[in-house]
Amino acid sequence: MSRRLEDRNSGFEEGNMRVRVDGKQCQGHGVCYMTAPDVFAPREEDGHAEVLLDEVGPDLEAAARDGAEACPERAITVE
Ligand code: SF4
Repeated sequence: MSRRLEDRNSGFEEGNMRVRVDGKQCQGHGVCYMTAPDVFAPREEDGHAEVLLDEVGPDLEAAARDGAEACPERAITVE
């Protein structure tokens, strides 16, 4: 199945991005949520990052990429 068809089936809006934090790689440095507080936030229990949005629209794309690039553990995936 093509990616585009998968996205349509899953309700993913074309032009939006998916952003994920790998919980095993994240060490809670906090650089991502200091860099992009509209996209990332600390979890209350351990300060590790979580993504605030299921999909990141074009308005926050640059912030999401900046946050991912700032992560010293390379724990953030943007696609
Ligand atoms: S910058 Fe990276 S290691 Fe630090 S909290 Fe964010 S995802 Fe985790």
